[in-house]
Amino acid sequence: KAASYQFMLRLKMPNGECPPDLYLELDRLADVHGQGDLRATTRQAFQLHGVIKSDLKTVIRSIAATGASTLGGCGDINRNVMTPAARLPNNAAYVYAKRYASAFAELFKPSTAAFSELWLDGEKALSTEYWHKDLYDLCHNVHTPADIDAVRAHDTGRGVVTGHSHEPLYGTTYLPRKFKIGVTVPGDNSIDVLTNDLGLVVLLEPDGKTLKGFNAYVGGGMGRTHNKASTFARIAEPLCFVPARDALELGKAVLAAQRDHGNREVRANARMKYLVHTLGIDKFRELIGSYMGAPLAPVLPLPPWVEGIDWLGWHAQGDGKWFVGINVQQGRIIDANGVRLKSALRQIASELGLTLVLTAAQSVLYQDVTDEQRPRVEAILREHGVAPVEEVDMLVRHSMACPALPLCGLAQTEAERVMPDINRRLRDVARAVGLPEAASFTTRVTGCPNGCARPYAAELALVGQGPDQYQVWVGGSPVGTRIATVLTDKMKLADLEPTIEPLLAAWKAQRAQPTEAFGDFADRVGVEHLSQFARSYAPA
Ligand code: SF4
Repeated sequence: KAASYQFMLRLKMPNGECPPDLYLELDRLADVHGQGDLRATTRQAFQLHGVIKSDLKTVIRSIAATGASTLGGCGDINRNVMTPAARLPNNAAYVYAKRYASAFAELFKPSTAAFSELWLDGEKALSTEYWHKDLYDLCHNVHTPADIDAVRAHDTGRGVVTGHSHEPLYGTTYLPRKFKIGVTVPGDNSIDVLTNDLGLVVLLEPDGKTLKGFNAYVGGGMGRTHNKASTFARIAEPLCFVPARDALELGKAVLAAQRDHGNREVRANARMKYLVHTLGIDKFRELIGSYMGAPLAPVLPLPPWVEGIDWLGWHAQGDGKWFVGINVQQGRIIDANGVRLKSALRQIASELGLTLVLTAAQSVLYQDVTDEQRPRVEAILREHGVAPVEEVDMLVRHSMACPALPLCGLAQTEAERVMPDINRRLRDVARAVGLPEAASFTTRVTGCPNGCARPYAAELALVGQGPDQYQVWVGGSPVGTRIATVLTDKMKLADLEPTIEPLLAAWKAQRAQPTEAFGDFADRVGVEHLSQFARSYAPA
């Protein structure tokens, strides 16, 4: 296959859910039309790499025939809405997070017929109710699919709705740039909610069951360009508390603000984070209030985020069933190096018919596993050489890498292919300075500064800066609430150990208490201190 004719196809997968028939079709398409593997992305969707141009239509039609779609996987519209992968049907907060994530995905789905005209010969794709069977009746004022259309077209006369009959929200111009939404629950930041353009956190009434509303955060985003100070990574800021009845209208207002005021002149500054930054959060809040027709209420207090949630391993759902999270290194589902992960997942889908859910960290889980099915899932994984999560190094569990070379045209260096080696070497360095085996931190590697694996929110990140050159970032929060700082430029991978060992040695020797996370420590002492420590550091 000539490289110039290859494409990557990314699905739109609300809640990261992949029912077994869709999974089996993707598995087949990857073999027949792709490069034989599947990639779980950092935004809870699947990508197929290596689809040649003449096969695109066949693949898109095959995906549509299962009720899924690639529409909205890319483009200057709302992207895949993220939400924690955990299946906890008796936990109202998680249930509402998933329902509203689905609702926002539906609400901001482009209405244009152009996609089906181009790729499906004008046929309508199967209804996406496929995924939303639980949605209707649970969102405020949304009881049928037509209700979502009504919410989309509902015009309060304040400029949110464009008047365009086919795209009431996107109008004729769509958005200046991609738009990302995450919905989570208090305590669980497994989705890095503050890296989104719009992040929402579910708040319940004191009864623990009734939805009160959401805290909304705006202006997060990772992408930047090296040596261009006008571009930067940013964590979302508190916008408001919004009652449940107004949540979808608030989402519309935020989208409209970006549509109407986002930068359409300079693409590098077109994400909504630059609008929030330029206006300042107070003026941005006023702007949203003007679309809503009323001032916004301040966010409500939240409990602290809990460190280390990745939803891997076995968890009781609370309804007599289980979900199990399986670590997938860099999201690559492949049979390789004695681990037949792709075959194992195919067998689980075909034999047990379980629904797969992608996590925000490129791994997968199976939900609704019965007591009877659990031993069979364990056996299938074991027979295919897939290690139980207890045997996976925590550094590996907490790491991510983007595809980079050879798959991404923007890559300046390696990421996915060097990540397993980087993880092994980081563990060796941790051992060398005497850290316990359980010591861990989030590590993310990308092949360029676009930041698809959310590196700037990690405790340690390597960001591609040229062939075998990485900018090293430290000091992100273990719970994804802070942007890291550049420690050094143009590190060669051969210099990983001498660069990182002093940092881990300083962490071990100088942390405020044994529980201080590496990222919190690095942020507290600062990169100047770390660099100074490194200069005088003598390995034991
Ligand atoms: Fe490509 Fe850069 Fe994104 Fe990696 S971070 S996938 S190299 S655009």
